[in-house]
Amino acid sequence: MNIIISRKLSSPIYMQIKQQIREAIFSGQLPAGYLLPPERKLAEQLGINRSTVLNAYIELKAEGLIESFVGKGTVVLPISKSDSWADSSRIAHYGAPSWRHIFSERSLGSDDPLIRDLLSLPKRRDCISFSVALPDPGPELTAKLSEQLQALMQEQGDVMWKHTATEGILSLREALCTWMKQRGIDAAPEEVLALSGSQQGIDLLTRVFIDPGDTVLIEEPSYFSAMQTFRSAGARLIGIPADSEGQLRLDILESMLSKYHPKLIYVLPTFQNPTGRVMNLAVREQLLQLAYRYKTIIVEDDPYSDFRYSGNPLPPIRALDRHDHVIYVSTFSKLIGSGLRMGWLNAPKQVIRQLAIAKQMADLHTSTLSQVLMERMICSGLLHQHVDLIRSRYKHRKQLMIDSLHKHYVPGMTWQEPEGGVFIWCRMPKGLNANELLLRAADRGVDYLPGNPFFAQQQQTAYVRLNFSCAEADTIDEGIRRFTAAVRDATGREGLWDEAASEGLKPII
Ligand code: PMP
Repeated sequence: MNIIISRKLSSPIYMQIKQQIREAIFSGQLPAGYLLPPERKLAEQLGINRSTVLNAYIELKAEGLIESFVGKGTVVLPISKSDSWADSSRIAHYGAPSWRHIFSERSLGSDDPLIRDLLSLPKRRDCISFSVALPDPGPELTAKLSEQLQALMQEQGDVMWKHTATEGILSLREALCTWMKQRGIDAAPEEVLALSGSQQGIDLLTRVFIDPGDTVLIEEPSYFSAMQTFRSAGARLIGIPADSEGQLRLDILESMLSKYHPKLIYVLPTFQNPTGRVMNLAVREQLLQLAYRYKTIIVEDDPYSDFRYSGNPLPPIRALDRHDHVIYVSTFSKLIGSGLRMGWLNAPKQVIRQLAIAKQMADLHTSTLSQVLMERMICSGLLHQHVDLIRSRYKHRKQLMIDSLHKHYVPGMTWQEPEGGVFIWCRMPKGLNANELLLRAADRGVDYLPGNPFFAQQQQTAYVRLNFSCAEADTIDEGIRRFTAAVRDATGREGLWDEAASEGLKPII
């Protein structure tokens, strides 16, 4: 259980604790029977009075969410439907509905408050943010898009406000095939589905493939929103760790394949979120062979492969696939902006059909305006030019961040320089909890994402994901200075740092 408190929030500490435990119970993170830490222990852990924890527990007991038993401790109770809204409606007063009794079990089970809470921590006005993976397309793009939009308005008039086929406009799907071709994928338009962002692809795949109890294998760590989506459908997630070179442990994967017969293997082979790693060619090929042998489907999520700054490009797994075992998902969110809500998926025709049925129920079709605009950007060559521009922008920012990490080096902190993507994945000095570091970092005026939510199984508090694509170049060094200062505060190693620097120690990278 991971509770974060802040004295800067207006709500009292006991309410913050109560709220987080409550949300964890409703999200299913703390199931019935879960043993809560004794009040004294939690108080020590959070550095607060025992009475504060006691008050939080009293509140939760009053709501019937937890109970204390002599000799056992304080446990989470089953979420009872007996005090449902329908029952309470017999009571002769009319107030606002008791929403939590009306929400479906599935929706209650989907709430994962951790990231939301982390991002809502109070921040300094001058905070330098390394937390979210937003692009920074710059003013050049806005100018280009506005020109294209004006031309489209004149040429196509009211087309942009009309319905399209659920699968997407045919000419856009053709353009997407051209775009995929330069990544090495040969696809026909009828094997393409336009999406309202690649997150929708993950959601539709979940709806179409996952029944409660099905197993999904994922890299450990992996993209947390995909994990959340799979979990919301009742999937059992099994994380497959990487070896010391950062490559997927295929031996473990194979034993999980034979034991659990998973429906899907979800992977991010190129500049993975959060680690920035690249799956090498041999592993891509062997993974594919395993998928054939165990008759399972690989979902390849590929938002970042256009951002390669060094090394040789590798084919997507979909490009190596000869027997239609790979479903490929990608997006323009990282190239243009996530507000565009435009992604796409490439899969065999039969799968596209099934996904289109699900998509029709979700949103009928992707915004016509976004589709028409992206078709134009691809076909005019403007998207190519734009990607070249932001690739060199991000390459520069990556180098600035790497240089700053060296310059403000903290002993025990390690990272690997990525060949591309938008993240640097750092391991904190031994014993430092990246979740707890957040408040110190916020105080110093910098933020980041702690690695914990990216792990499906083991709680791992040693990692931090730093994004370098959206912070202005001239803020990166200051941001890393603040970040490493927070790390140093937390490790209390100011002296050691000076000593280490003078000895010329270098991080293991
Ligand atoms: N997959 C991965 C790995 C991502 O990092 C993201 C965005 N953070 C998405 C999917 C979803 O992107 P979109 O905006 O296209 O829905």
